[in-house]
Amino acid sequence: MNAATRVFEELNFEIKQDNIYYQTINNLLAAAERINAPHRLRLILAQPKNELIVHFPVRMDDGSFRLFKGYRVQHNNVLGPYKGGIRYDNSVHLDHIKALAAVMTIKCALVQLPLGGAKGGVQFDPRTLSAEELMRLTRRFTSALGNNIGPDIDMPAPDVGTNAQIMAWMADTYMNLDASRKLNGLGIVTGKPLHFGGSHGREKATGQGVVYVLEEMLPEYGIAMDKTTFSLIGFGNVGSWTGKLLQERGAVLRAVGDHTGFLYRAEGIDTVRLDEYVRRHGGVAGYPDADEISEEEFYKVQVDLFIPAALEQMIDRPKAELLNCRVVVEAANIPLQPEAENYLVEKGVGILPAVLCNAGGVTVSFFEWKQNRQAETWDLDVVDRQLKIMITRAARRVKEIARETGSDLRMAAYCAALQHIDRVYEIRGIFP
Ligand code: NAD
Repeated sequence: MNAATRVFEELNFEIKQDNIYYQTINNLLAAAERINAPHRLRLILAQPKNELIVHFPVRMDDGSFRLFKGYRVQHNNVLGPYKGGIRYDNSVHLDHIKALAAVMTIKCALVQLPLGGAKGGVQFDPRTLSAEELMRLTRRFTSALGNNIGPDIDMPAPDVGTNAQIMAWMADTYMNLDASRKLNGLGIVTGKPLHFGGSHGREKATGQGVVYVLEEMLPEYGIAMDKTTFSLIGFGNVGSWTGKLLQERGAVLRAVGDHTGFLYRAEGIDTVRLDEYVRRHGGVAGYPDADEISEEEFYKVQVDLFIPAALEQMIDRPKAELLNCRVVVEAANIPLQPEAENYLVEKGVGILPAVLCNAGGVTVSFFEWKQNRQAETWDLDVVDRQLKIMITRAARRVKEIARETGSDLRMAAYCAALQHIDRVYEIRGIFP
Protein backbone atom coordinates (compact mmCIF):
# COMPACT_ATOMS: atom_id res chain seq x y z
CA MET A 1 0.00 0.00 0.00
CA ASN A 2 1.45 3.40 -0.91
CA ALA A 3 1.75 6.51 1.28
CA ALA A 4 -1.34 8.34 -0.01
CA THR A 5 -3.60 5.26 0.10
CA ARG A 6 -2.86 4.76 3.81
CA VAL A 7 -3.78 8.35 4.67
CA PHE A 8 -6.72 8.56 2.22
CA GLU A 9 -8.22 5.37 3.69
CA GLU A 10 -7.93 6.80 7.18
CA LEU A 11 -9.65 10.02 6.07
CA ASN A 12 -12.28 8.09 4.11
CA PHE A 13 -11.38 9.87 0.87
CA GLU A 14 -11.94 8.33 -2.53
CA ILE A 15 -8.74 6.75 -3.86
CA LYS A 16 -8.18 7.49 -7.56
CA GLN A 17 -4.70 6.29 -8.62
CA ASP A 18 -4.77 8.12 -11.98
CA ASN A 19 -5.90 11.43 -10.48
CA ILE A 20 -3.41 14.35 -10.49
CA TYR A 21 -4.26 15.38 -6.91
CA TYR A 22 -3.90 11.86 -5.57
CA GLN A 23 -0.54 11.47 -7.36
CA THR A 24 0.77 14.81 -6.08
CA ILE A 25 -0.24 14.04 -2.49
CA ASN A 26 1.32 10.60 -2.88
CA ASN A 27 4.70 12.23 -3.65
CA LEU A 28 4.27 14.51 -0.65
CA LEU A 29 3.26 11.71 1.73
CA ALA A 30 6.03 9.40 0.51
CA ALA A 31 8.49 12.12 1.52
CA ALA A 32 6.66 12.52 4.86
CA GLU A 33 7.24 8.80 5.46
CA ARG A 34 10.88 9.12 4.45
CA ILE A 35 11.54 11.83 7.07
CA ASN A 36 9.35 10.01 9.57
CA ALA A 37 7.09 13.05 9.89
CA PRO A 38 4.47 12.99 12.64
CA HIS A 39 1.09 11.55 11.77
CA ARG A 40 -0.61 14.94 12.25
CA LEU A 41 1.52 16.52 9.50
CA ARG A 42 0.43 13.83 7.02
CA LEU A 43 -3.24 14.39 7.88
CA ILE A 44 -2.98 18.18 7.65
CA LEU A 45 -1.22 18.19 4.28
CA ALA A 46 -3.38 15.49 2.67
CA GLN A 47 -6.16 18.03 2.04
CA PRO A 48 -6.16 21.78 1.39
CA LYS A 49 -7.37 24.07 4.16
CA ASN A 50 -9.89 25.85 1.94
CA GLU A 51 -11.46 25.14 -1.45
CA LEU A 52 -13.47 28.01 -2.90
CA ILE A 53 -15.59 27.65 -6.06
CA VAL A 54 -17.38 30.70 -7.47
CA HIS A 55 -19.75 31.15 -10.40
CA PHE A 56 -20.11 34.59 -11.90
CA PRO A 57 -21.70 36.13 -15.02
CA VAL A 58 -19.77 38.28 -17.50
CA ARG A 59 -21.21 40.49 -20.25
CA MET A 60 -19.72 39.68 -23.66
CA ASP A 61 -19.04 42.37 -26.30
CA ASP A 62 -22.17 41.36 -28.26
CA GLY A 63 -24.40 42.03 -25.23
CA SER A 64 -24.93 38.36 -24.31
CA PHE A 65 -23.91 36.93 -20.91
CA ARG A 66 -21.74 33.92 -20.07
CA LEU A 67 -21.44 32.19 -16.71
CA PHE A 68 -17.90 31.29 -15.60
CA LYS A 69 -16.59 28.93 -12.92
CA GLY A 70 -13.59 30.09 -10.88
CA TYR A 71 -11.51 28.41 -8.19
CA ARG A 72 -9.18 29.40 -5.38
CA VAL A 73 -7.65 26.60 -3.34
CA GLN A 74 -5.62 27.47 -0.23
CA HIS A 75 -3.55 24.44 0.69
CA ASN A 76 -1.54 25.43 3.75
CA ASN A 77 -0.53 28.67 5.50
CA VAL A 78 1.55 27.59 8.48
CA LEU A 79 4.56 29.45 7.03
CA GLY A 80 2.69 32.64 6.08
CA PRO A 81 -0.08 34.03 3.84
CA TYR A 82 -1.18 31.88 0.91
CA LYS A 83 0.56 32.51 -2.41
CA GLY A 84 0.04 31.05 -5.88
CA GLY A 85 -0.86 31.72 -9.48
CA ILE A 86 -4.17 32.33 -11.24
CA ARG A 87 -4.66 30.29 -14.37
CA TYR A 88 -7.00 30.96 -17.31
CA ASP A 89 -7.32 27.74 -19.29
CA ASN A 90 -9.93 25.28 -20.53
CA SER A 91 -8.24 22.48 -18.57
CA VAL A 92 -8.78 24.13 -15.16
CA HIS A 93 -10.68 21.90 -12.73
CA LEU A 94 -10.77 21.40 -8.96
CA ASP A 95 -8.36 18.48 -8.53
CA HIS A 96 -5.93 20.15 -10.89
CA ILE A 97 -5.93 23.36 -8.84
CA LYS A 98 -5.73 21.39 -5.58
CA ALA A 99 -2.61 19.59 -6.85
CA LEU A 100 -0.97 22.85 -7.92
CA ALA A 101 -1.80 24.49 -4.57
CA ALA A 102 -0.12 21.60 -2.71
CA VAL A 103 2.95 21.98 -4.96
CA MET A 104 3.06 25.68 -4.00
CA THR A 105 3.16 24.76 -0.29
CA ILE A 106 6.19 22.56 -0.99
CA LYS A 107 7.87 25.14 -3.23
CA CYS A 108 7.56 28.01 -0.73
CA ALA A 109 8.84 25.77 2.07
CA LEU A 110 11.77 24.53 -0.01
CA VAL A 111 12.98 28.10 -0.63
CA GLN A 112 12.06 28.95 3.01
CA LEU A 113 9.76 31.82 2.02
CA PRO A 114 7.35 33.05 4.73
CA LEU A 115 4.45 32.05 2.48
CA GLY A 116 1.95 29.23 2.14
CA GLY A 117 0.60 27.45 -0.93
CA ALA A 118 -2.46 28.32 -3.03
CA LYS A 119 -3.63 28.23 -6.64
CA GLY A 120 -6.64 29.48 -8.55
CA GLY A 121 -8.10 29.76 -11.97
CA VAL A 122 -11.04 30.14 -14.28
CA GLN A 123 -12.06 27.46 -16.75
CA PHE A 124 -12.13 29.01 -20.26
CA ASP A 125 -9.84 29.67 -23.22
CA PRO A 126 -8.53 33.25 -22.86
CA ARG A 127 -7.64 33.35 -26.56
CA THR A 128 -11.36 33.40 -27.40
CA LEU A 129 -12.15 36.61 -25.44
CA SER A 130 -11.49 40.25 -26.39
CA ALA A 131 -9.34 42.44 -24.10
CA GLU A 132 -12.49 44.16 -22.78
CA GLU A 133 -14.15 40.82 -22.01
CA LEU A 134 -10.99 39.61 -20.28
CA MET A 135 -10.97 42.74 -18.15
CA ARG A 136 -14.63 42.37 -17.14
CA LEU A 137 -14.09 38.67 -16.34
CA THR A 138 -10.99 39.43 -14.23
CA ARG A 139 -12.71 42.18 -12.26
CA ARG A 140 -15.79 40.06 -11.64
CA PHE A 141 -13.68 37.05 -10.56
CA THR A 142 -11.67 39.26 -8.18
CA SER A 143 -14.81 40.63 -6.56
CA ALA A 144 -16.26 37.09 -6.30
CA LEU A 145 -13.16 36.01 -4.34
CA GLY A 146 -14.07 38.78 -1.86
CA ASN A 147 -12.28 38.78 1.48
CA ASN A 148 -10.79 35.35 0.85
CA ILE A 149 -7.83 37.15 -0.74
CA GLY A 150 -5.81 40.09 0.61
CA PRO A 151 -2.20 41.29 1.03
CA ASP A 152 -2.01 39.54 4.43
CA ILE A 153 -4.25 36.60 3.53
CA ASP A 154 -3.74 35.25 0.04
CA MET A 155 -1.95 36.94 -2.87
CA PRO A 156 -2.47 35.63 -6.43
CA ALA A 157 0.13 35.89 -9.23
CA PRO A 158 0.32 35.17 -12.99
CA ASP A 159 0.30 31.63 -14.35
CA VAL A 160 -0.76 29.96 -17.61
CA GLY A 161 -3.04 32.28 -19.60
CA THR A 162 -2.61 35.30 -17.28
CA ASN A 163 -0.09 38.15 -17.33
CA ALA A 164 0.93 41.50 -15.82
CA GLN A 165 -2.10 43.31 -17.29
CA ILE A 166 -4.50 40.83 -15.73
CA MET A 167 -2.71 41.23 -12.37
CA ALA A 168 -3.11 45.03 -12.72
CA TRP A 169 -6.89 44.64 -13.24
CA MET A 170 -7.06 42.34 -10.20
CA ALA A 171 -5.15 44.84 -8.03
CA ASP A 172 -7.19 47.81 -9.24
CA THR A 173 -10.47 45.98 -8.56
CA TYR A 174 -9.37 44.88 -5.08
CA MET A 175 -8.19 48.41 -4.22
CA ASN A 176 -11.50 49.94 -5.34
CA LEU A 177 -13.77 47.59 -3.43
CA ASP A 178 -13.05 49.23 -0.05
CA ALA A 179 -11.69 52.70 0.76
CA SER A 180 -9.20 51.28 3.30
CA ARG A 181 -7.52 49.29 0.57
CA LYS A 182 -6.53 52.34 -1.50
CA LEU A 183 -3.32 52.85 0.45
CA ASN A 184 -2.23 49.34 1.33
CA GLY A 185 -3.89 47.13 -1.27
CA LEU A 186 -1.08 47.02 -3.83
CA GLY A 187 0.40 43.80 -2.42
CA ILE A 188 -2.81 41.89 -3.18
CA VAL A 189 -1.20 40.41 -6.32
CA THR A 190 2.34 40.06 -7.64
CA GLY A 191 3.55 39.98 -11.22
CA LYS A 192 2.10 43.48 -11.77
CA PRO A 193 3.44 45.87 -14.43
CA LEU A 194 6.55 47.79 -13.35
CA HIS A 195 4.70 51.15 -13.37
CA PHE A 196 2.04 49.81 -11.01
CA GLY A 197 3.91 48.21 -8.12
CA GLY A 198 5.64 45.46 -10.11
CA SER A 199 9.18 44.29 -9.43
CA HIS A 200 12.15 44.44 -11.72
CA GLY A 201 12.94 40.94 -12.85
CA ARG A 202 9.49 39.40 -12.13
CA GLU A 203 8.63 38.71 -15.77
CA LYS A 204 11.82 36.70 -16.32
CA ALA A 205 11.99 35.36 -12.74
CA THR A 206 10.88 31.79 -13.34
CA GLY A 207 13.24 31.35 -16.32
CA GLN A 208 16.02 33.04 -14.35
CA GLY A 209 15.46 30.60 -11.50
CA VAL A 210 15.67 27.65 -13.92
CA VAL A 211 19.07 28.94 -15.09
CA TYR A 212 20.36 29.37 -11.52
CA VAL A 213 19.27 25.79 -10.74
CA LEU A 214 21.06 24.54 -13.86
CA GLU A 215 24.26 26.40 -12.89
CA GLU A 216 24.23 24.42 -9.65
CA MET A 217 23.04 21.07 -11.01
CA LEU A 218 24.55 20.60 -14.50
CA PRO A 219 28.09 19.95 -13.22
CA GLU A 220 26.64 16.87 -11.44
CA TYR A 221 25.87 15.45 -14.89
CA GLY A 222 29.16 16.62 -16.43
CA ILE A 223 27.28 19.06 -18.70
CA ALA A 224 28.74 22.51 -19.44
CA MET A 225 26.04 25.14 -19.87
CA ASP A 226 27.81 26.95 -22.72
CA LYS A 227 28.01 23.74 -24.73
CA THR A 228 24.61 22.32 -23.95
CA THR A 229 21.74 21.68 -26.34
CA PHE A 230 18.09 21.80 -25.29
CA SER A 231 14.50 21.48 -26.47
CA LEU A 232 11.46 23.25 -25.06
CA ILE A 233 7.79 22.34 -25.02
CA GLY A 234 5.94 25.59 -24.26
CA PHE A 235 7.19 29.01 -25.32
CA GLY A 236 5.12 31.29 -23.08
CA ASN A 237 6.48 33.23 -20.12
CA VAL A 238 8.53 30.40 -18.60
CA GLY A 239 9.65 28.73 -21.84
CA SER A 240 10.67 31.90 -23.68
CA TRP A 241 12.63 33.37 -20.75
CA THR A 242 14.34 30.07 -19.99
CA GLY A 243 15.26 29.82 -23.68
CA LYS A 244 16.56 33.38 -23.96
CA LEU A 245 18.60 33.22 -20.74
CA LEU A 246 20.13 29.85 -21.66
CA GLN A 247 21.02 31.19 -25.11
CA GLU A 248 22.78 34.17 -23.45
CA ARG A 249 24.97 31.58 -21.71
CA GLY A 250 25.85 29.83 -24.97
CA ALA A 251 23.31 26.97 -24.93
CA VAL A 252 21.59 26.03 -28.20
CA LEU A 253 17.84 25.53 -28.68
CA ARG A 254 17.47 22.67 -31.16
CA ALA A 255 13.71 22.11 -31.06
CA VAL A 256 10.65 23.87 -29.69
CA GLY A 257 6.92 23.21 -29.61
CA ASP A 258 3.72 24.78 -28.36
CA HIS A 259 -0.05 24.49 -28.93
CA THR A 260 0.40 25.66 -32.55
CA GLY A 261 3.21 23.36 -33.78
CA PHE A 262 6.82 22.12 -33.56
CA LEU A 263 10.11 23.46 -34.98
CA TYR A 264 13.63 22.09 -35.47
CA ARG A 265 16.97 23.55 -36.51
CA ALA A 266 20.19 21.61 -35.87
CA GLU A 267 22.38 24.76 -35.69
CA GLY A 268 19.99 26.37 -33.22
CA ILE A 269 16.80 28.45 -33.20
CA ASP A 270 17.32 32.10 -32.22
CA THR A 271 15.17 32.45 -29.06
CA VAL A 272 15.05 36.26 -29.17
CA ARG A 273 13.71 36.35 -32.73
CA LEU A 274 11.35 33.47 -31.99
CA ASP A 275 10.02 35.36 -28.95
CA GLU A 276 9.32 38.45 -31.10
CA TYR A 277 7.55 36.22 -33.62
CA VAL A 278 5.43 34.43 -30.97
CA ARG A 279 4.37 37.76 -29.42
CA ARG A 280 3.10 38.88 -32.86
CA HIS A 281 1.57 35.59 -34.05
CA GLY A 282 0.47 33.85 -30.83
CA GLY A 283 2.52 30.69 -31.36
CA VAL A 284 5.64 29.15 -32.95
CA ALA A 285 3.89 27.81 -36.09
CA GLY A 286 5.02 29.55 -39.27
CA TYR A 287 8.30 30.87 -37.81
CA PRO A 288 10.45 31.21 -40.94
CA ASP A 289 13.96 30.36 -39.68
CA ALA A 290 13.39 26.74 -38.64
CA ASP A 291 11.81 23.60 -40.11
CA GLU A 292 8.33 22.54 -39.07
CA ILE A 293 8.36 18.98 -37.70
CA SER A 294 5.77 16.58 -36.30
CA GLU A 295 5.14 16.15 -32.57
CA GLU A 296 6.75 12.70 -32.69
CA GLU A 297 9.86 14.07 -34.42
CA PHE A 298 10.05 16.81 -31.80
CA TYR A 299 10.22 14.38 -28.90
CA LYS A 300 12.90 12.31 -30.67
CA VAL A 301 15.35 15.20 -31.16
CA GLN A 302 18.66 14.48 -29.46
CA VAL A 303 19.48 17.11 -26.81
CA ASP A 304 21.21 17.30 -23.45
CA LEU A 305 18.22 18.95 -21.74
CA PHE A 306 14.54 18.44 -22.42
CA ILE A 307 12.63 21.32 -20.78
CA PRO A 308 8.84 21.02 -20.40
CA ALA A 309 7.44 24.55 -19.91
CA ALA A 310 3.77 24.10 -20.84
CA LEU A 311 0.94 22.31 -19.02
CA GLU A 312 0.76 19.54 -16.41
CA GLN A 313 1.13 15.84 -17.17
CA MET A 314 1.85 16.44 -20.86
CA ILE A 315 4.52 13.76 -20.94
CA ASP A 316 2.98 10.30 -20.85
CA ARG A 317 4.87 7.02 -21.13
CA PRO A 318 4.80 6.83 -24.99
CA LYS A 319 6.25 10.37 -25.23
CA ALA A 320 8.87 9.56 -22.58
CA GLU A 321 9.92 6.55 -24.68
CA LEU A 322 10.61 8.88 -27.62
CA LEU A 323 12.81 11.25 -25.61
CA ASN A 324 16.53 11.35 -26.40
CA CYS A 325 17.92 13.53 -23.61
CA ARG A 326 20.17 13.26 -20.56
CA VAL A 327 18.21 15.44 -18.16
CA VAL A 328 14.56 16.54 -17.91
CA VAL A 329 14.36 20.06 -16.49
CA GLU A 330 10.86 20.56 -15.08
CA ALA A 331 10.20 24.23 -15.74
CA ALA A 332 6.44 23.48 -15.79
CA ASN A 333 4.61 22.13 -12.76
CA ILE A 334 3.97 18.34 -12.68
CA PRO A 335 4.90 17.85 -16.37
CA LEU A 336 5.49 14.07 -16.14
CA GLN A 337 2.87 11.38 -15.66
CA PRO A 338 4.05 8.81 -13.04
CA GLU A 339 4.59 6.04 -15.65
CA ALA A 340 6.70 8.44 -17.74
CA GLU A 341 8.77 9.36 -14.69
CA ASN A 342 9.31 5.72 -13.68
CA TYR A 343 10.42 4.88 -17.21
CA LEU A 344 12.89 7.80 -17.38
CA VAL A 345 14.35 7.06 -13.94
CA GLU A 346 14.91 3.40 -14.92
CA LYS A 347 16.59 4.55 -18.12
CA GLY A 348 18.99 6.70 -16.07
CA VAL A 349 17.68 10.08 -17.27
CA GLY A 350 18.17 12.81 -14.65
CA ILE A 351 15.07 14.68 -13.48
CA LEU A 352 15.31 18.14 -11.94
CA PRO A 353 12.05 18.61 -10.01
CA ALA A 354 9.65 21.47 -10.66
CA VAL A 355 9.41 22.56 -7.02
CA LEU A 356 13.07 23.55 -7.30
CA CYS A 357 13.38 24.46 -11.01
CA ASN A 358 10.50 26.93 -11.22
CA ALA A 359 10.68 28.36 -7.69
CA GLY A 360 12.23 31.57 -9.09
CA GLY A 361 8.75 32.90 -9.92
CA VAL A 362 7.34 32.77 -6.41
CA THR A 363 10.65 33.96 -4.95
CA VAL A 364 10.59 37.20 -6.96
CA SER A 365 6.85 37.47 -6.22
CA PHE A 366 7.87 37.46 -2.56
CA PHE A 367 10.37 40.26 -3.31
CA GLU A 368 7.60 42.24 -5.05
CA TRP A 369 5.27 41.79 -2.07
CA LYS A 370 8.06 42.92 0.27
CA GLN A 371 8.76 45.98 -1.88
CA ASN A 372 5.03 46.88 -1.90
CA ARG A 373 4.83 46.58 1.89
CA GLN A 374 7.88 48.79 2.38
CA ALA A 375 7.06 51.22 -0.49
CA GLU A 376 10.43 50.45 -2.07
CA THR A 377 11.76 49.68 -5.54
CA TRP A 378 14.74 47.35 -5.80
CA ASP A 379 17.12 47.54 -8.76
CA LEU A 380 17.31 44.53 -11.07
CA ASP A 381 20.78 43.55 -9.87
CA VAL A 382 19.49 43.44 -6.27
CA VAL A 383 16.58 41.19 -7.31
CA ASP A 384 18.83 38.88 -9.35
CA ARG A 385 21.44 38.65 -6.59
CA GLN A 386 18.87 37.81 -3.90
CA LEU A 387 17.16 35.32 -6.22
CA LYS A 388 20.43 33.57 -6.96
CA ILE A 389 21.28 33.29 -3.26
CA MET A 390 17.90 31.75 -2.37
CA ILE A 391 17.65 29.38 -5.33
CA THR A 392 21.26 28.21 -5.01
CA ARG A 393 20.77 27.55 -1.31
CA ALA A 394 17.65 25.48 -2.04
CA ALA A 395 19.43 23.54 -4.82
CA ARG A 396 22.39 22.74 -2.53
CA ARG A 397 20.05 21.56 0.22
CA VAL A 398 18.30 19.24 -2.25
CA LYS A 399 21.62 17.80 -3.42
CA GLU A 400 22.76 17.32 0.16
CA ILE A 401 19.61 15.45 1.21
CA ALA A 402 19.73 13.32 -1.96
CA ARG A 403 23.32 12.37 -1.11
CA GLU A 404 22.57 11.69 2.57
CA THR A 405 19.46 9.59 1.95
CA GLY A 406 20.26 8.07 -1.44
CA SER A 407 16.93 9.36 -2.76
CA ASP A 408 16.20 11.02 -6.09
CA LEU A 409 16.06 14.80 -6.35
CA ARG A 410 12.26 15.03 -6.26
CA MET A 411 12.07 13.03 -3.05
CA ALA A 412 14.96 15.08 -1.62
CA ALA A 413 13.24 18.39 -2.49
CA TYR A 414 9.97 17.27 -0.86
CA CYS A 415 11.89 16.03 2.22
CA ALA A 416 13.69 19.39 2.56
CA ALA A 417 10.38 21.26 2.34
CA LEU A 418 8.56 18.98 4.78
CA GLN A 419 11.35 19.14 7.35
CA HIS A 420 10.91 22.91 7.41
CA ILE A 421 7.08 22.75 7.67
CA ASP A 422 7.32 20.07 10.37
CA ARG A 423 9.70 22.21 12.40
CA VAL A 424 7.32 25.18 12.22
CA TYR A 425 4.34 23.04 13.35
CA GLU A 426 6.51 21.69 16.14
CA ILE A 427 7.28 25.21 17.35
CA ARG A 428 3.81 26.69 16.84
CA GLY A 429 1.76 23.67 17.91
CA ILE A 430 -1.79 23.11 16.70
CA PHE A 431 -4.39 25.69 17.77
CA PRO A 432 -5.98 25.74 20.35
P1 NAD B 1 2.05 30.66 -20.53
O1 NAD B 1 0.57 30.73 -20.67
O2 NAD B 1 2.82 31.91 -20.64
O3 NAD B 1 2.63 29.61 -21.59
C1 NAD B 1 2.11 28.33 -21.71
C2 NAD B 1 2.76 27.67 -22.92
O4 NAD B 1 2.26 26.32 -23.02
C3 NAD B 1 2.43 28.35 -24.24
O5 NAD B 1 3.59 28.39 -25.05
C4 NAD B 1 1.40 27.41 -24.87
O6 NAD B 1 1.43 27.42 -26.29
C5 NAD B 1 1.91 26.07 -24.37
N1 NAD B 1 0.88 25.04 -24.47
C6 NAD B 1 -0.39 25.10 -23.99
N2 NAD B 1 -1.06 23.98 -24.35
C7 NAD B 1 -0.18 23.22 -25.04
C8 NAD B 1 -0.28 21.95 -25.69
N3 NAD B 1 -1.40 21.23 -25.64
N4 NAD B 1 0.82 21.49 -26.33
C9 NAD B 1 1.96 22.18 -26.37
N5 NAD B 1 2.10 23.38 -25.77
C10 NAD B 1 1.05 23.89 -25.13
O7 NAD B 1 2.31 29.92 -19.13
P2 NAD B 1 3.62 30.01 -18.21
O8 NAD B 1 3.39 31.06 -17.22
O9 NAD B 1 4.82 30.03 -19.09
O10 NAD B 1 3.53 28.61 -17.42
C11 NAD B 1 4.07 27.40 -17.93
C12 NAD B 1 4.26 26.40 -16.80
O11 NAD B 1 5.13 26.96 -15.81
C13 NAD B 1 2.99 26.03 -16.01
O12 NAD B 1 3.12 24.71 -15.53
C14 NAD B 1 3.02 27.00 -14.84
O13 NAD B 1 2.25 26.54 -13.73
C15 NAD B 1 4.50 26.97 -14.53
N6 NAD B 1 4.97 28.12 -13.76
C16 NAD B 1 4.80 29.39 -14.18
C17 NAD B 1 5.31 30.44 -13.42
C18 NAD B 1 5.22 31.88 -13.87
O14 NAD B 1 5.85 32.73 -13.23
N7 NAD B 1 4.54 32.21 -14.95
C19 NAD B 1 5.95 30.18 -12.21
C20 NAD B 1 6.13 28.86 -11.81
C21 NAD B 1 5.62 27.84 -12.59
